[in-house]
Amino acid sequence: MDKFEQFIPYGRQHIDQADIDAVVDVLQSDYLTQGPKVPEFESQLCHLTGAQFACATNSATSALHIACLALNVGIGDIVWTSPISFVASSNCALYCNATIDFVDVDTNTGLMSINALTKKLADAEKTNTLPKVVIPVHLCGHSCDMKAIAMLAKQYSFRIIEDASHAVGSFYQGKPVGSCQYSDISIFSFHPVKIITSAEGGIALTNKQSLADKMSKLRSHGITNVASEMTEPSHGPWYYQQQMLGFNYRMTELQAALGVSQLRKLKPLVSTRNAKAVIYDEAFANTDLTILKPADNSQSSYHLYVVLLPQRLVNQHKNIIEKMREANICAHLHYIPIHIQPFYQTLGFNEQDFPNAMDYYHRAISIPLYPVLDSKAQQFIIDTIKEML
Ligand SMILES: *Cc1c(COP(=O)(O)O)cnc(C)c1O
Repeated sequence: MDKFEQFIPYGRQHIDQADIDAVVDVLQSDYLTQGPKVPEFESQLCHLTGAQFACATNSATSALHIACLALNVGIGDIVWTSPISFVASSNCALYCNATIDFVDVDTNTGLMSINALTKKLADAEKTNTLPKVVIPVHLCGHSCDMKAIAMLAKQYSFRIIEDASHAVGSFYQGKPVGSCQYSDISIFSFHPVKIITSAEGGIALTNKQSLADKMSKLRSHGITNVASEMTEPSHGPWYYQQQMLGFNYRMTELQAALGVSQLRKLKPLVSTRNAKAVIYDEAFANTDLTILKPADNSQSSYHLYVVLLPQRLVNQHKNIIEKMREANICAHLHYIPIHIQPFYQTLGFNEQDFPNAMDYYHRAISIPLYPVLDSKAQQFIIDTIKEML
């Protein structure tokens, strides 16, 4: 097999001179942290999504943690998420000493299965093990069926945190993902492999003032400087109160400035990703690969482009990914089902607890998709995959 002239990564950030200038400006300003850039970034994300409140953090992992805490997740509570996700989607529940469980995915989308969720809720009701919070994950940037999940949330009284780490710039039924129309809190990640980056960073969006207030306290040690929130009169101009056990999960001004600058390019970055996804869609249309696609009423940011091998090639899965890497194409796999991670095995999960997730794991391949992937490299990827089929 041919080898491409240089290594094609599976994803890559896109940094231009404006981004560099924005960060340098902050370095020369008065504030490296706790200045005006973080609130500016937050208000821009509210504007983008339509959510009323935003709390920027040093990572999406931190945002997921304080989102769970804001919803009072604690010992004895149960949280459900998708096994096909990054471990942060479930670790956040364990940080709060809650019990984690998973809802199996729909093999053809990799998203939380509404059928599996419906059935698991009915069973859990009988055994008094209903979840306090469910965390759907918008894999690849393709939104879960939030309307259906929100209806179940009403019926069974659970709260919803959307792990929208992949989905900045996506739309669900005409509304931006992150609007929280069907959830309590939505989380974005700005890690460099994601759609836009702040180097490290995340954000929690919500329409509920009380959740926003609690998350912003938790992000900064549980401390407030706001007089109206204090439990006793101020001791003087130096006074602040720690009211709960919080963390230092703050985003820096450097990160926020990079985020603000990157946000200006969100639309073109997402449309370039979509244009490249269409090229893959068309190239693979006459093959027996299953292509992960957003639902009809949704648009995806296309954080990842994932294909599933047909059953006839399940035994070749590892071999195909290795061969692609030998050809200088960084094929990848998102994700190893969380419940089979050694740590999660110690919690008592069995591989076959979530059979669709395992089926997905044995067939999925993430193929390179990023804005500066050039057409020559993309054609080489297409040709290489077709040759192997
Ligand atoms: C990247 C990612 C996270 C964690 O994001 P960080 O900003 O790196 O903490 C969480 N969930 C999903 C689905 C992710 O892809």
